[in-house]
Amino acid sequence: MTRPDLNRRTFLTAAAAIGIGGRSVRAVGGESEGHQGGGDFQTLRCDAPIVRKVDVLVCGGGPSGCAAALYAARSGARTMLLENLPFLGGVWTAVGVSHLIDGRRHDGLNAEIHYRLPVHQVFHRNIYLIEDMKCLLDDMMAEADVQVQLHTRAVSVAREGRLVHGVFTASKSGIEFIEAAVVIDATGDGDIAAAAGCEFQQGRAFDGQTQPVTLFGTIGGYRGQPAKGRELVEILERGGWRPSYPPVTLFPQPGQPGVFQLMATQFYGIDGTDVRDLSRAEILGRYEIRKCVEAFRQHGGEDWKDIYLISTGPAIGVRETRRIAGRYHLTWEDMDRGAGFDDGIAEIRSGSNIHPVDDPYESAPEDLPASPGFRVRPYQIPLRSLIAADVDNLMMAGRCISGDVYALGSYRLTGNVVRTGEAAGLAAAMAVEDGIVPADLPGPAVVQRLDRMRTG
Ligand SMILES: Cc1cc2nc3c(=O)[nH]c(=O)nc-3n(C[C@H](O)[C@H](O)[C@H](O)COP(=O)(O)OP(=O)(O)OC[C@H]3O[C@@H](n4cnc5c(N)ncnc54)[C@H](O)[C@@H]3O)c2cc1C
Repeated sequence: MTRPDLNRRTFLTAAAAIGIGGRSVRAVGGESEGHQGGGDFQTLRCDAPIVRKVDVLVCGGGPSGCAAALYAARSGARTMLLENLPFLGGVWTAVGVSHLIDGRRHDGLNAEIHYRLPVHQVFHRNIYLIEDMKCLLDDMMAEADVQVQLHTRAVSVAREGRLVHGVFTASKSGIEFIEAAVVIDATGDGDIAAAAGCEFQQGRAFDGQTQPVTLFGTIGGYRGQPAKGRELVEILERGGWRPSYPPVTLFPQPGQPGVFQLMATQFYGIDGTDVRDLSRAEILGRYEIRKCVEAFRQHGGEDWKDIYLISTGPAIGVRETRRIAGRYHLTWEDMDRGAGFDDGIAEIRSGSNIHPVDDPYESAPEDLPASPGFRVRPYQIPLRSLIAADVDNLMMAGRCISGDVYALGSYRLTGNVVRTGEAAGLAAAMAVEDGIVPADLPGPAVVQRLDRMRTG
């Protein structure tokens, strides 16, 4: 394997200028320098009521955020979980793909969820029903006494020096403020850390491109067997359609004869932190899925003649955006040598699973730094990769922790991000318990208690 270019492009965001005091917090937000919106600014001034005071505030209710909230609450912290969508689960529930459960290889929450959820073995995959997952997560949060607030986007922070005091939210209730001793950014995109002015990287070192995004479709009325790749592409080509994701795949749904999840799209050059790119990709995705369904119905023969589109999404799936700078930055060298750490909170065995960044129908740049699918020696993620380098009481969990693109390609898998959430949640609660910031926690003590929680 050749050595990646280590001169990574580093991006710095401007934090909103925010003051704190009394019963309400004044937010002064604006576009950050260099934003796609252009050069002109409007300033938003509003007093945000402080609606909650908690020990640990988790922003983002995907696999890592759910794990963080549960481990923080189970460790005794008053915990709140904010989620932008009307349900928890992130990619587990929001993208329309339902085989992302990794309970057999891990203990802790991965195993707990696996064994509490009706999971069906279909073609070597553990498949669950998305509604089952949503309801299970609701139940688990209620059991652990996590305050869940849905329909709520975390938009900015109040920061003073090296500390954040809490998070501004935007929702139907307006702009509000939630005060917290420790904030965990589990938004996938590192929205909170970016708003706090933390340093981050995004995309490949040499051109900033990220992995493609995918919109799934759910179809009904199919009479054939699960299928993948060439045979499906041939049908589509007979209908004059060239799918943007050539290894087209159908994932069966347990207990729902004829219902399949269709993976047939991938969009390149999309920045998952740019709402205009996301809007374009959603609309294009729906168009492409409709084209696929039409082509299958008209040219697929007997098995396909009654198929219909049940739904798309709910939302497009984003694989890669910001990687926030932490106290330790995991690199492909760590994966190559099987790095271990005395604050290692998770052992990762997954190889780097990087979806091709370049459109398969166009020629890829030559001399890519390393093979996107290279094998790793089992390596550990240190707790320090979950603690923001620039803010002492801000942690990250999930795919936005500190690492290079190769490390992200490996630890982004669902089972692994749950492990980062468990560690962030417990560490945040321990810091609150001891009246210190997570950055001052002794890593080995966190690891010991984490092991007990996961196996207890
Ligand atoms: C299309 C696709 C297919 C995949 N396939 C696999 C697979 O087969 N196997 C596998 O192991 N992994 C797979 N992955 C990877 C894995 O699912 C993700 O890496 C993982 O879900 C990341 O977890 P997370 O908690 O960091 O982020 P997410 O799952 O993205 O969750 C983030 C949550 O935060 C919420 N949020 C975001 N911003 C805000 C905000 N500002 N305020 C409040 N809430 C916010 C989002 O709505 C979301 O619920 C796939 C990913 C995608 C996109």
